[in-house]
Amino acid sequence: MSSLLVDDIGELVTNVPTPGGGLLGLRRDVALLVEAGRVVWIGPARYAPAADRRIDAGGGAVLPGFVDSHAHLVFAGDRAAEFAARMAGEPYTGGGIRTTVGATRAASDDDLRDTVRRLRDEAMRQGTTTMEIKSGYGLTVADEARSLRIAAEVTAETTFLGAHVVPAEYAGRPDDYVGLVCGPMLTAATPYARWVDVFCERGAFDADHARAILTVGQAAGLGLRLHANQLGPGPGVRLGVELGAASVDHCTHLSDADVDALAGSATTDDGTVATLLPGAEFSTRSPYPDARRLLDAGVTVALATDCNPGSSYTSSMPFCVALAVREMRMTPAEAVWAATAGGARALRRTDVGVLRPGARADLMILDAPSHLHLAYRPGVPLIRQVLHNGVPQCRL
Ligand SMILES: [Zn+2]
Repeated sequence: MSSLLVDDIGELVTNVPTPGGGLLGLRRDVALLVEAGRVVWIGPARYAPAADRRIDAGGGAVLPGFVDSHAHLVFAGDRAAEFAARMAGEPYTGGGIRTTVGATRAASDDDLRDTVRRLRDEAMRQGTTTMEIKSGYGLTVADEARSLRIAAEVTAETTFLGAHVVPAEYAGRPDDYVGLVCGPMLTAATPYARWVDVFCERGAFDADHARAILTVGQAAGLGLRLHANQLGPGPGVRLGVELGAASVDHCTHLSDADVDALAGSATTDDGTVATLLPGAEFSTRSPYPDARRLLDAGVTVALATDCNPGSSYTSSMPFCVALAVREMRMTPAEAVWAATAGGARALRRTDVGVLRPGARADLMILDAPSHLHLAYRPGVPLIRQVLHNGVPQCRL
């Protein structure tokens, strides 16, 4: 069995709490051994075992790969003109989703596949080794099923988001559309999906619709996630906690009751994570979620990109970390934890977002001595190498 040793590590982020290692479980003067796609040993560099191959980290920091738990990659076309109009003063309402639905329905499988793979590769070069991918721009039985089938070619973390928006052909008949989502569309999507999600927002789906869709999705064996409280206050966050969703995403407009519900659920391993998506606020020029209020209340927080062509066309987790630190007052350690271990919690995964024996050998090597540089040097391509399942992804 071929083994790979990573040594000359300046700082290792394990996300395994250790005395003196802080939230990130920082270790120094250690090496890491990979076999068969897994971490099999971490210990003092001077005791490193012999290995078939070696990667010299050159004194750079080594971190778990980013876990991007919220992305919409199956689409066609772009909405650069809408972005430009918004930057010139037009408000964001979410209505542009229908533009992408039209382009996505008209696209070939290969066109959609090319976009998914291009964006997945783009994310990987920026350190993302686990990526959730949603459907939601097909909104017919056949188009949702094919979106998920294409997403499932590149990730195990696929999410059925038939309830993204009510499509134009169901205008004024949301109950009929929810019936389609809960019936034939769910049946067609389930073989390719691990999760079900609903855009629970004024102008999209209300709490009764969201509850109906999530309940039948859960009965079909899917885990629950929710787009909640992005554009205004609403029932989404508390509904997600009540139903045992793995994550409620956006969380930009929260009441005290919302925060209390999230904090209460954070006391268990299968609680509901608050996933913050600062790329969306950046790209819609909106106020950022109050991360400090959530963290100070004890809520488990994740960071993700929300990569989509309308409201957040970035695949960059380092960019989201930098925004979280500068704009949302998270500490660099909190932001790095949220983008790695937090994302893993939001996907109920224990094998990623962490570096310890038995974990997946998903990691990144920085051209910088510390994780601090991810926020300290925004916009700089600091990621020198990425290992996914123990396999180097970049040419050094
Ligand atoms: Zn989203």
